[in-house]
Amino acid sequence: MGQIPFKNLCLLVLVCCAKGNSQQALVDLASLPSNFTYEIRYATSDNFMGTVLYPCAKCLLRAEVAEALLEANQYFCEKGYQIKIYDCYRPLDIQKAMWSKVPNAAYVANPYDKGSVHNRGAAVDITLVTLEGCEVAMGTDYDYFGKEAHIDNLQLPETILSNRNLLLEGMKQFGFQPIRTEWWHFSFIRNYQFPILNEPLPCD
Ligand SMILES: [Zn+2]
Repeated sequence: MGQIPFKNLCLLVLVCCAKGNSQQALVDLASLPSNFTYEIRYATSDNFMGTVLYPCAKCLLRAEVAEALLEANQYFCEKGYQIKIYDCYRPLDIQKAMWSKVPNAAYVANPYDKGSVHNRGAAVDITLVTLEGCEVAMGTDYDYFGKEAHIDNLQLPETILSNRNLLLEGMKQFGFQPIRTEWWHFSFIRNYQFPILNEPLPCD
């Protein structure tokens, strides 16, 4: 048997030691050996709800999704960029609160239908920053609900289109798929194998 790579070993240990049944499959991205930038907007009031939704700023993901995101971050790092995280796992109750404010499936997944891939711990909302921490222009702010945020809107400056394309093409290589209306959202391609969760974020 070959040696288990250090990165995979870390993931195994975290999965084994996490508390709670459904959290066994969720990994705290900050515990893994990779550098991400975090701006978890739902842990602040700077979001479309205008209120704090998460009791702490954490990015939890399924182990397989976290590993793919690490690989994507390494890919971007070699190009001079780093992934900045806006959102990861989102408890179903939070999805219900969002739906009550924006009951529009183009922007908020219906929690009473299939729910969001975020509820499965298999989607990320992200952007890119430079390795020095500078913002990379993507044309709109996170959670801008409108045409300017759509990935099939080509009526944007060349720099914006180029930056969005860099993000999209990079993420696709590691098993992530976009949605049409949000340049920042990526669902892991095998997300359907993970059930919806409503465990609160483990803040202590
Ligand atoms: Zn999203």
